[in-house]
Amino acid sequence: MPAKEIGEAVDAKCSPCGSRNIQITEEFVGNDQYELRSGKVVEITPTALLDTTGRTHGKCRQCGHTWQFRKNPLATN
Ligand SMILES: [Zn+2]
Repeated sequence: MPAKEIGEAVDAKCSPCGSRNIQITEEFVGNDQYELRSGKVVEITPTALLDTTGRTHGKCRQCGHTWQFRKNPLATN
């Protein structure tokens, strides 16, 4: 589930040009599990929850600068 809603403010800007028109990419991981018995699949557990990897990237829509955030700008607190 996205951490922010449409219209919410996010404290992030491009450091080279100061623009606040930015695309933010937040990375998630999930795992599907396959249980095998004698070499055959007997159970499949699809990923129930996606965990954030903590990696969040920014791309400036004005100058094209890309970077990795040290602190997730989408985190609430
Ligand atoms: Zn920029």
